[in-house]
Amino acid sequence: MILILRREASATEIDAILARLSALGATGHVARGAEQVVIAVEGDKELLATSQLDALPGVERVVPTAKPYKIASRDYRAAKTTIPIGTRVIGDKKVVVIAGPCSVESRAQCFTIAAEVAKAGATVFRGGAFKPRTSPYSFQGLGREGLEILAEVRERTGLAIITEVMDTRDVDLVARTADILQIGARNIQNFSLLNEVGKLRKPVFLKRGMMTTVTELLMSAEYVLSNGNENVILCERGIRTFETALRNTLDLSAVPLLQSLTHLPVMVDPSHGVGDWRYVIPMARAAVAAGADGLMIEVHHSPETAFSDGAQSILPRRFAEGMIEIRKVARAVGRAI
Ligand code: PEP
Ligand code: MN
Repeated sequence: MILILRREASATEIDAILARLSALGATGHVARGAEQVVIAVEGDKELLATSQLDALPGVERVVPTAKPYKIASRDYRAAKTTIPIGTRVIGDKKVVVIAGPCSVESRAQCFTIAAEVAKAGATVFRGGAFKPRTSPYSFQGLGREGLEILAEVRERTGLAIITEVMDTRDVDLVARTADILQIGARNIQNFSLLNEVGKLRKPVFLKRGMMTTVTELLMSAEYVLSNGNENVILCERGIRTFETALRNTLDLSAVPLLQSLTHLPVMVDPSHGVGDWRYVIPMARAAVAAGADGLMIEVHHSPETAFSDGAQSILPRRFAEGMIEIRKVARAVGRAI
């Protein structure tokens, strides 16, 4: 269950609530959000249900939930969470499109791609400065210099910036530049990292791991939320299945499923989902039709020389054409871009 506290609940009242929970053999985790303080409670459900916790001083409301994730669940919040990013809002009627290269390679590369994707209607620029590569010998990203380039892209184009943070030691550094911090598929169960970004108030973009279930993804979101950061965006980016014809299997059924299980915005990355540029736009269209709140698409002006993920990167021209198609699908399902 979740205890929603009164705004004016004092530290003494919170301590008394925690002591009462402990006497009931339950544990309480205090999550201090910007708007609200809540206590996520784990314990004997029947005992808790009959313990009149709503009568305790400081408690405004008790929300019963049978889910292992609590603050992430629709039980906690029926209305969708909306997250303002620059001039847009993620989680409302408009589909937000994030686009850019897999890796930040150079100023010229980023400026070229950013100008093109902005013109076509993207509102957030992506680019990895810290890259999680399978091989230690592959390009690892420009690091600090990459972040500087991203900041310049924002200044020049007005696009918001999303970039990945891989290491707890870099969280503050990345948060200084990024408007949204990306936690990659490989780090989705790096609980130290999730705790660290949970202490921020900047939006966190959680990419489903290639081997994480929907419940596990929501539990990862719960780590961030339970640290008080309510600005979490989920992203389906393909999972590993027996099918090997494409890089991953893009699980679009996770989109309506997540939309019903959680109030958090749900986005889709068709680029990593398929791994082949030819199928990116068709799956982007399908993602919007399935109810995604936004898309993340890898775009490169020279995919054949890209430092990473060239095979799945689409040309700016194809991105612009794709945006026209995606806009039509959005309109057909009562959305816009
Ligand atoms: C990326 O966005 O470039 C990336 C590495 O994604 P993922 O973590 O989904 O593989
Ligand atoms: Mn990539």
